[in-house]
Amino acid sequence: SQNHSCRSFTFFSLFFVLFVSQVPPTIIRLKEPERRHDTCIEFTVRGSPHPVLRWFYQDKEISHTEYVRPDMDIYLDYIEGCLTFKNPTHHNNGNYTLEARNYLGIATSTVYGHFLEKPFVIPTAETHIPEEDTFGVSIAVGLAGFALSLMLVVLFLLINKYGGRSKFGMKGPVAVISGEEDSASPLHHVNHGIISPCTLDAGPAAVVIGMTRIPVIENPQYFRHGHNCNKPTTYVQHIKRRDIILKRELGEGAFGKVFLAECYNLSPTKDKMLVAVKTLKDPTLAARKDFQREAELLTNLQHEHIVKFYGVCVDGDPLIMVFEYMKHGDLNKFLRAHGPDAMILVDGQPLQTSGELGLSQMLHIASQIAAGMIYLASQHFVHRDLATRNCLVGNGLLVKIGDFGMSRDIYSTDYYRVGGHTMLPIRWMPPESIMYRKFTTESDVWSFGVILWEIFTYGKQPWFQLANNEVIECITQGRVLERPRLCPKEIYDIMLGCWQREPQQRLNIKDIQKMLFTLMKATPVYLDILG
Ligand code: ADP
Repeated sequence: SQNHSCRSFTFFSLFFVLFVSQVPPTIIRLKEPERRHDTCIEFTVRGSPHPVLRWFYQDKEISHTEYVRPDMDIYLDYIEGCLTFKNPTHHNNGNYTLEARNYLGIATSTVYGHFLEKPFVIPTAETHIPEEDTFGVSIAVGLAGFALSLMLVVLFLLINKYGGRSKFGMKGPVAVISGEEDSASPLHHVNHGIISPCTLDAGPAAVVIGMTRIPVIENPQYFRHGHNCNKPTTYVQHIKRRDIILKRELGEGAFGKVFLAECYNLSPTKDKMLVAVKTLKDPTLAARKDFQREAELLTNLQHEHIVKFYGVCVDGDPLIMVFEYMKHGDLNKFLRAHGPDAMILVDGQPLQTSGELGLSQMLHIASQIAAGMIYLASQHFVHRDLATRNCLVGNGLLVKIGDFGMSRDIYSTDYYRVGGHTMLPIRWMPPESIMYRKFTTESDVWSFGVILWEIFTYGKQPWFQLANNEVIECITQGRVLERPRLCPKEIYDIMLGCWQREPQQRLNIKDIQKMLFTLMKATPVYLDILG
């Protein structure tokens, strides 16, 4: 803003310039930025002729970028302004020196810029524990494990003895907790294709996201909503290998390729139909178990906005899961293909845009994901990896939550390696999930807010301008994503409602769906871009 510099050059000013024009520089003010709130270092410099300003960070001159730049207003005999930072993180903490120079002299002043704390992240199970503590920790863990096992055994006996409904609320298909690699739990048994849902295990906790293990700090949520051992056994449908004819590759999943295929004898009305099959090659014993558990979980989750699971094929290698085929692939790719930058290229030449999504279509997409989430919440199922890359798009803009495994290969930068092989989708995670690995229906709501942001940016990566450790810092310190350029205030308000720091203060997914419906009614319907 240069508006103050445009002043009429009056007689008095001329007088002033003539008689006061020879002033060496002095730095009158250099304000320490207030932690967390400020994104700028304010300064006032006097001097005539106007001094030339240079900034140094830890004694190195700062080159002006999009992320650090000086803004200033130039007055007759002084300069006032701000060294402005875009999304500063703890990497920006340090000494900032302002140097003001004119031919009469030099003035310098230094201030400490303290923007954010270094992020605090709970170490994972793989983190090294100092040796002297190991013994004590082992005893504590051992005792706790023993006590927990004892409690579970007693609980199991009680349930069996009285055979009635458990009042402990162990309900809903949540195959998210498992023991270490060979968790051959006595409760878990496979019998001619009938997979027992009783996979709750008191061993060291590891969250299974899809078919991958992630060590976690114990989270009682999973125990509360674990498998109900009194529930009828889940019958996973088995499909014969000769009924599946692969046609072409659709994508690469974390555990194997995904193919478009024709499947015979699946539909009662058609002799063959198109399906998507996920393959798992050369599975280890642990991978086989995870595969079975996931199949059982998917069999139990059925809703119009959850991708339809038809069954498995386990006679031979690779193991196969059969899903309904969603013609337009994953939602992230779809959003990018229908954004302002999308072009259809013919021989490397841009031909035409492939049709930008309008507001009503964005709301329609969001409300369908919300519908799927309402169902998941009703099943006490915490997804933990909601993101547009894990949703699928079918005919007529039909959207479903389509992945209970992580699509890490293509989107590997969306996940953060915390240590060893632990990968977390931190850009979609609320502070409590990042800090304590606490995943709940409320943390899924946070991720839904990020999904809304992805929709309104046509599939941009959240915090794309920041590195993973900076993202962790920003989120844990309470910063939230900015309003996308095309996003109406009412919708940004929903995002902000999802990003309340306190999980209890966040909007609930049913209310979000209602708000989206209200907004949809008020939005004129655009021409359907998908015939
Ligand atoms: P994984 O969960 O093993 O990482 P994904 O589910 O992410 O694998 O699948 C990889 C890619 O395959 C997706 O990004 C998507 O483009 C495609 N794909 C997966 N499932 C389907 C489906 N049901 N219909 C159409 N395409 C699919």
